[in-house]
Amino acid sequence: MYYIEMHAHMVSRTTDDYRDMAMAGCVAVSEPAFWAGWDRSSADGFEDYFRQLTEFEPKRAAQASIRHVTWLCLNPKEGEDRTLAAEVLKRIPKYLDRPNVVGIGEIGLNRVTRNEIATLNDHVQLALNSNQLILIHTPHLEDKYKGTRVTIENLQKMKGLRANRVLIDHAEEHTVNMILEAGFYTGFTLYPNTKVSAARAVDMVEKYGTERITVSSACDWGPSVPTAVPQLMLEMRRRGHSEEIIRKIVFENPLEFLLQSGKFELPRLGIQAALRSIAAAT
Ligand SMILES: [Zn+2]
Repeated sequence: MYYIEMHAHMVSRTTDDYRDMAMAGCVAVSEPAFWAGWDRSSADGFEDYFRQLTEFEPKRAAQASIRHVTWLCLNPKEGEDRTLAAEVLKRIPKYLDRPNVVGIGEIGLNRVTRNEIATLNDHVQLALNSNQLILIHTPHLEDKYKGTRVTIENLQKMKGLRANRVLIDHAEEHTVNMILEAGFYTGFTLYPNTKVSAARAVDMVEKYGTERITVSSACDWGPSVPTAVPQLMLEMRRRGHSEEIIRKIVFENPLEFLLQSGKFELPRLGIQAALRSIAAAT
């Protein structure tokens, strides 16, 4: 079965990982900009990163016949630095027309501070001004509930924002309902140690249904598994879920969301073929 990896930091992964993902059915990867594991020293460092995301990674993915799309921003962990954020925000627009850029992300809150909220709002305004999709990171552990709630409240104050053009990621049992009820797309990130396991993700699908829910490996430089989505597919099959339900979660929902960018297409399948296959399955 084909799937779309909705959240993967491939700059931290090897070309072998792209190949393994392709062999497991991955046809597209969506890569948000994120924290490198250490704070960058200047806005120039972000520009080099944006070039890597828009020039180098699409070519590397294409070697495995994977379509690579990306999201640009200054990430939540560095959002506290308002001076750096202003400088980076000035430099993002010139990359937005590049063929694989589908939106602004992953933006959001880390420690839920006043400065982080201001940086989040600046990014959302840029996305609204330039008609970009938005990908939101939510904080981990003890800040998860409060951070998600404050994020949603802020988004709802932004004039002209349409909830179905925003994906709020890293949802868990205590946050998924408030995200879906507010009309946003959401995502479960499947990590081996922290965050959500495949079993917990399937439990949530069973409880909340399949509308506007996506899953991803969120693989990066830390402990993570690039083929976590196919592992979730196995767990869904083991529990007796139909191929249609699995396909909706791992392929159709991310496809529907990404198509709103106006730039998403699939190599080999062609976007029309993908849409026909959705029509045939529903
Ligand atoms: Zn991420």
